[in-house]
Amino acid sequence: MPKGLMSKATLAKVLDKIDRERPAERIMVGLYDWGEPTLHPQLAEMIKMVKDAGFESQISSNLNVDNQLRDLVKSEPNSFIVSTSGMYDATYDATHTGGSAKMLKSNLYKLAWYRDRYDTNTDFVIYYHLYKHNRGRDLLAAREIAKELGFRLETFAAYLYPMEKNLAAIDGILPQHDQALVDLLLLTPEQRIRLLRKAAANTPDHPMVRDCSHRTGKMSIRFDTSVPLCCTVYDQSTDVAQSFLDTPHEDIQTAKYNRSICAQCMGNALHIVARIHGDNPD
Ligand code: SF4
Repeated sequence: MPKGLMSKATLAKVLDKIDRERPAERIMVGLYDWGEPTLHPQLAEMIKMVKDAGFESQISSNLNVDNQLRDLVKSEPNSFIVSTSGMYDATYDATHTGGSAKMLKSNLYKLAWYRDRYDTNTDFVIYYHLYKHNRGRDLLAAREIAKELGFRLETFAAYLYPMEKNLAAIDGILPQHDQALVDLLLLTPEQRIRLLRKAAANTPDHPMVRDCSHRTGKMSIRFDTSVPLCCTVYDQSTDVAQSFLDTPHEDIQTAKYNRSICAQCMGNALHIVARIHGDNPD
């Protein structure tokens, strides 16, 4: 995955193009695309830019850095997601490699402190990725902290990314080095696909089954404004625009509907955004 930081000048152009094209009535701009947005030194200013443009703003962080949290809270994004896979280091490190659960917890408390101090109104949500190894005391601790701080807690069974790896798994060609992670999943990729296919068969007319929400209602834009097919596919040969700024919305949409990988993805119901819970603590 290409890595980098979008400049404020580029964001201004992106927001201006979205405003001109207005692809939907309600627009939410998430200032992240797999990277860690709090590493961007101007993130708070960029959240304000999104809001000033009249759009909803969202960020998603692993909260493992203590950068500008005060400014971020004061900039009041509509929603602030914190992703975690544990609340204690021994558990957390298995699936947030190199991270620190202590830092995460410390920063959760700081967010709540600044929210109360500045009386801001962001929706803070803890996304708890469930694995076999973290449904015990870690999940209970996440519930306690979320309750204490007044943050929402959403739990869902973690699954394999990117989408290509799921296709590799069902073809039986998943690399050996991915197997340790697969062993921690509540559902193997094959089991998950079976459930998704069943859901699709039961609700064939549901809009999220008939088409893919990544095509109908989402657009990923990288820091350099190149546009991937969707955030679930890493293969850059399927990109749908080299420059979001220079490509009309309709052309990007047309390219999205021309990618053959979508047929493979939808054939296995992998396009369905479904949350499988399984969050009873051990
Ligand atoms: S069908 Fe699959 S590959 Fe295509 S845009 Fe949707 S999620 Fe991405």
